[in-house]
Amino acid sequence: MFDIQAIRADFPILKEKVNAKPLVYFDNGATSQKPKVVLDAIQQYYTEINANIHRGVHTLSQLATDAYEESRFKIQKHINAKHAHEVLFTSGTTFGINLVANGFAQLLQPGDEIIVSELEHHSNIVPWQFACQRSGAVLKVIPLKENGELNMEVYQQLLTNKTKLVAVNHISNALGVINPIEFIIEKAHQIGAAVFIDGAQATPHLKPDVQALDCDFYAFSGHKICGPTGTGILYGKEAWLNALPPYQGGGEMIKEVTFEETTFAELPHKFEAGTPNIAGGIVLGVAIDYLNQVGFDAIAAYEKELLDYATEQLLQIPGLRIYGNTEHKASVVSFNIDGIHPYDIGAIVDKMGVAVRTGHHCAQPIMRYFNIPGTVRASFMFYNTKEEIDVLVQAVKKAQTMLL
Ligand SMILES: *Cc1c(COP(=O)(O)O)cnc(C)c1O
Repeated sequence: MFDIQAIRADFPILKEKVNAKPLVYFDNGATSQKPKVVLDAIQQYYTEINANIHRGVHTLSQLATDAYEESRFKIQKHINAKHAHEVLFTSGTTFGINLVANGFAQLLQPGDEIIVSELEHHSNIVPWQFACQRSGAVLKVIPLKENGELNMEVYQQLLTNKTKLVAVNHISNALGVINPIEFIIEKAHQIGAAVFIDGAQATPHLKPDVQALDCDFYAFSGHKICGPTGTGILYGKEAWLNALPPYQGGGEMIKEVTFEETTFAELPHKFEAGTPNIAGGIVLGVAIDYLNQVGFDAIAAYEKELLDYATEQLLQIPGLRIYGNTEHKASVVSFNIDGIHPYDIGAIVDKMGVAVRTGHHCAQPIMRYFNIPGTVRASFMFYNTKEEIDVLVQAVKKAQTMLL
């Protein structure tokens, strides 16, 4: 049983009013809201155990270190990583991608190839472009199909013995399409390429099993899974993390420093230079506990209901087109109405308390493919309701009558 009222009561912000209307928050793809347990845990950390980790012998430092490392174990278990030291704390998905791309740039030879897709967030394009520029490697792109899926025939043709890495998202932030990453990983491994999965949009909706997927890297952001901003995780297979050079130099990441030579600390510390977001890392574990308590099976079933209902209701609006028409979708509806700019719809529905994202969603290649300036994106989490979807639909209808 899914007690939606009890769940909504866990999120204080959902009681807020916006423009004198009850908030309807459908911008979850940009960031999720935070339950009270998460808010309380931030306060509790700074009130009771705040200290720097891994350094002091004093009691608070021990408590903070234990809580931080306990959170790492929790996240290891959550994503089913083989070792805790394969779980790196980062500031978010973007940082994780840059860490790996920067390291890879130093391993690549001119003429090597990296494959991304036309369905990527700019975060999963630009760092690989940098890596190619630095190394002389070449960037290849898996093209989109009209229904928003990736073209797997072309993908297989792109794979050659020059391919060193394939970087794709698990779920598209712009369209909500779930990519066939199992297939993508299997085919890449057959020719010896590594695979980086951008899991920023998947982790709010499902529990990834990195060993079952057999991906080489998997990155996600804390703030999209009910955790604090400035937190994230990069999972990497031990062998790859040992092979990659460190990203940032600083405290905690060294074994021994002289002016002639520095040797690096063991994993995970090799990649965790400086004082990290200690509170954030600890509280990310609290957010993950909360999500597991709600239950990912229940979340998936409920969000499917929201997606189906929203799709059906929105499609009754004349001239409305949804981008990303596939069975394999997360609870995201990205749409336009004939003759209306997405920004105008977003601005009008905001007046009615409805928060949606408008624009290119940091994924300009997708917009170029569909030849549109952007879309209106409503992205749902398990704390949203069908009643809220009714408010969105009414607001969009009103925008249409005002603008046409
Ligand atoms: C949000 C997002 C990112 C970037 O995440 P940050 O938290 O901004 O670092 C990357 N890829 C996808 C698919 C996203 O949705």
